[in-house]
Parts: sequence; structure tokens; C-alpha cells
Amino acid sequence: EKGDTHIFVVLGASGDLAKKKIYPTLWSLYRDGLIPKKTIFVGYARSKLTVHDIRNKSEPYLKVRDEEKEKVNAFFKMNHYVSGSYDMPEDFLQLNQEICKYEMGSHCNRLFYLALPPNVFESSTTNIRNHCMASKGWTRIIIEKPFGRDSESSTQLSNHLNALFKEEELYRIDHYLGKEMVQNLMALRFGNRIFGPTWNREHISCVMVSFKEPFGTQGRGGYFDSFGIVRDVMQNHMLQMLSLVAMEKPVSTGAEDIRDEKVKVLRCMPEVKLEDVVLGQYIGNPSGEGEAKEGYLDDPSVPKGSTTATYAMVTCYVNNERWEGVPFFLRCGKALNERKAEVRIQYRDVPGDIFHGESKRNELVIRVQPGEAVYVKMMNKTPGMSFNIEETELDLTYGSRYKGLVMPDAYERLILDVFCGSQIHFVRSDELAQAWRIFTPILHKIETENVKPVTYTYGTRGPKEADELCQNKGFKFYGTYKWVKPASL
Ligand code: NAP
Ligand code: NAP
Repeated sequence: EKGDTHIFVVLGASGDLAKKKIYPTLWSLYRDGLIPKKTIFVGYARSKLTVHDIRNKSEPYLKVRDEEKEKVNAFFKMNHYVSGSYDMPEDFLQLNQEICKYEMGSHCNRLFYLALPPNVFESSTTNIRNHCMASKGWTRIIIEKPFGRDSESSTQLSNHLNALFKEEELYRIDHYLGKEMVQNLMALRFGNRIFGPTWNREHISCVMVSFKEPFGTQGRGGYFDSFGIVRDVMQNHMLQMLSLVAMEKPVSTGAEDIRDEKVKVLRCMPEVKLEDVVLGQYIGNPSGEGEAKEGYLDDPSVPKGSTTATYAMVTCYVNNERWEGVPFFLRCGKALNERKAEVRIQYRDVPGDIFHGESKRNELVIRVQPGEAVYVKMMNKTPGMSFNIEETELDLTYGSRYKGLVMPDAYERLILDVFCGSQIHFVRSDELAQAWRIFTPILHKIETENVKPVTYTYGTRGPKEADELCQNKGFKFYGTYKWVKPASL
């Protein structure tokens, strides 16, 4: 209820995620009046800090307009900070006392955001369960990846959490599920008649999900090196997108109905095989500028001779009636030629060709970022006297169709969802278990056999082996499509 008191506790309030994402998000939601009026924020970490320190750390990341200076002060007045450890029950009792001070009224709910490294996950959640659960309302726990690093560790974490909390109390963030175009996949598929009937193996040749970053590790490769690109983005974000593309129509738009369909897709997917994978690691480009000159192994925080992949392309299959035989290519990499995340549906060739092989395959592209857009690449008669056909597009570019629209940040949507109790855009534990089942064998094989990635140069599209693999499996690239950016943009 809007009138209830809500206490939002940030554990690890002294950290990087807290200052860069959580406080800025809480501020935006507060500023826009989206969260309940009686919401109190409590930071918690071992560091001996004050609210003033928290403010100083996070202020560079807050979006504040000139006329909102007073409002920022008001926001920080609603903030408190408690210092304590993650493993001492006394400290959590003290946190609980602090929270109780602000719990006025008959209904008081608590949200705990764990912005903590995995090694203190278990102790802090145990302490929350034992000492900090709401007595006059609900308690919700928000957690961030990494949810383990393989099936075994993830199961251990899930078992631990499931023993303490109910599934409906757990909000596992995959921030891709907070993105506009990812949320739009359901609307496109199930709100239109044109896509549904062709959304299957009869008409679709392959699906490509891409995640490209134009920068390398920027000197912070240490953390990344122990995970690698597959754990960092593929097993979570990309697989989530895949399941939204591939799932059957859910019974309703309710969270459990949607998550039931998503998990069914994952259950139909066999484990990824090594022959269906291309792994890459970037090397410097001698004629590049700044970071581009440096390869992954030149980053001093990366262990010498590391074979961690900074690029991966994996071919996945969904062996059900709709998709059997259709390859789903998941491609992701650092230090590539551009920043983008997109889903590309490539249709089959038109049967019974009458255009002398001039027809190119249709593609439906859902561009997640940057510059949200949905476009369909299609054949059209070359305008004018000609009878030839050529490639063009039906184009929905958000920047021109929805001028001036300010897109909410993924974290803003997701945290608001937690207040509202909507789990649609959060990962259920069975989805997580399936995602690890699909990727754990290959991750272990790569590690035990020390599979060496191929190299690619900083700033390129990635290893040529990846293009070869997807073309061998049926993806067609023509190199003829020319995009003309409308002048008005
Ligand atoms: P962080 O800055 O390394 O850690 C957060 C806080 O935890 C620190 O300020 C520190 O607070 C405490 N801490 C750090 N190491 C500890 C240790 N070994 N033992 C006990 N306490 C320790 O982490 P973060 O970048 O904010 O990330 C938090 C979580 O979110 C992690 O699980 C991370 O993987 C995940 N995540 C982060 C990002 C991001 O952008 N940063 C993105 C996605 C997911 P005190 O010393 O004051 O207690
Ligand atoms: P494209 O250039 O024909 O590329 C189609 C696909 O083929 C992409 O996935 C591309 O990979 C891949 N590819 C590129 N070179 C290849 C090669 N040598 N071998 C194998 N595969 C290769 O068409 P497009 O990417 O759909 O569109 C071209 C440009 O127009 C893009 O920058 C797009 O954003 C822009 N456009 C924008 C809008 C809009 O904003 N509304 C609408 C239409 C088009 P990569 O993903 O690595 O490039």
C-alpha cells in the first residue's frame, strides 16, 4: 500500500554498486515521486561512514537538475547509515533496532538490497532472516549476480536462500530484464498478428543475439578474469533474451505464467558443446589510440598468460516442436568495433524464387541499445522505372517516433517492481538452475582442458572464426544492405 512505511536497506552501502547504481536509482525514484512517500533508506556496511560520506560518494552519479537541489537535501534527510559486520548477529540486531525506529504505523515493509561480494552473501542473508525480518509487513530481498559460478555453487546458494526465504521474497536482478526493448519482446510477439504465425522453424532460419562492447578491461581485468565473458553476460543476460524470444505464449502476463514458459525453453535446450563455441581474446591494435593499443594480456591486473575469453559465440538449440534445428547464436565480446545489444531474427529464403536470386532474407532486428529501434529488413521494388528489387527497411526508431521520451533506467524499473511486488522481470530459481545446467559442462571443459581462445584485434568485429561458424550453420550475410540514416535524427 502506498501509505505504508517502507524501509530500504542497502547492504554494502560503501561499495561501488551502491554509489554508482543503487543510490542514484533511489534518488531518481524519490525525485519522481514513484516510491511510497514514507520510505526510509538505511545504508549498512563495515566502513565507519556517515550519510554525508554516502552522499559525497554517490553525488557524482546522481542526476540532479538545478531546481532540484532542495529535493536532494530532502532525499538525504530520509537516509541513515549503520556500520556493522556481515557475520555478527549483534550487528544485525543493532540494524534491526535502527530500522524499528522508523517503523511508524501498522504496516511496515522492508527491502534489503545485497550489494555485497559473494563471500558474505550467506552470512548476511542468514542474519537478515534471524534478526531483521519485518514484523508488520513483507520483507523482500534483492540480489545481484554472480549467482554462483557453475551448477554446483549456484545450487548451494539457491538451497541456502530457499531455506531462509520464500521464492516470492527473492528478487534476483538481471538488469537486461529491465530494458525497454527486452520488455518489448512480449508485446511485439504476442500483441501483433504479423509475427506470431511465422515465429517458428518453418519460417525462421536462425536467431542471433548480440552484445558488443567497444572497450576492453580498462585496467580492471582482475575481477573479470576469474569469470570470463560467458559467465559475465552470456549465461545470464543473453540467455534471458533468448528465452523471451523462444518461449510459447504464456497463459497470462502474470510473473509465474511468464517464468513458467521461459523455464520450459531452457529445459528444451541441450548442454552447449565445444564444437559449437568460438572463444576469443583481444590483442592490441598497434595503430590504435589509448586503450586500443593494449591487448587483454597487457592489463596488469590480468594474470600472465590468462586464457580467459573476452569474446564468445555459442550456438544453442531449443529442441521443441517450434524450434528444433534452428540455431540460436549468442555472441558477446569486449573491445569490439561498436557498442550494441540486439536480437536479430533471420527468416528463410523465399521459396519458388522468381527474382533470379536477387531476394535477400528478411531480418527482424530488435535493437536493445544504444538507440532503441525495431526494424524489418525487406525487399522492395527499386523505385522508378526499374523492375529490380532491392533491400530496404520498415523502421521504428524510438528517437524519432517517440521524440523527447526519456527512457527510465533499467535499475529504476526493477527497483520499482520490487516495491510493487512484481516478479515478472526477475529470475526464478529454476530458471537459474537451468541456465547453469546448459553452460556448466562447457565452462568446466574450457577450464580443465585449458582451451585457448583465438585472438582478435581490438576494435574489430571479433574473430573471423565466429563469422565462419554461424555462416556454416546457415546464417547468411550479404554485405549489400545500406542503411540511410534519416536526416531528421
Ligand atoms: P564492492 O564494492 O567490492 O563491495 C561492496 C562492499 O562490500 C564494500 O564496500 C565493502 O564494504 C564490502 N566488502 C568488499 N569486500 C569484502 C570482503 N571481502 N568481505 C567483506 N566485505 C567486503 O562490490 P560492488 O561492486 O559494489 O558489487 C556488489 C555486488 O554486486 C557484487 O556481488 C557484484 O558482483 C555485483 N555487481 C556489481 C556491479 C557493479 O557495477 N559494481 C554490477 C553487477 C553486479 P565494507 O568494507 O564497508 O563492509
Ligand atoms: P548488416 O550490416 O547487413 O549486418 C547484418 C548482420 O551481419 C550483422 O549481425 C553483422 O554483424 C553481420 N555481419 C557484418 N559483417 C559480416 C561479415 N563480414 N561476415 C558475417 N557477418 C557479418 O545489417 P544491419 O546490421 O542490420 O544494419 C546495418 C547498419 O544500419 C547497422 O549499423 C544498423 O544499426 C543500422 N540500422 C539502423 C536502424 C535504426 O537505427 N533504426 C535501422 C536499420 C539499420 P555485426 O552485428 O557484428 O555488425
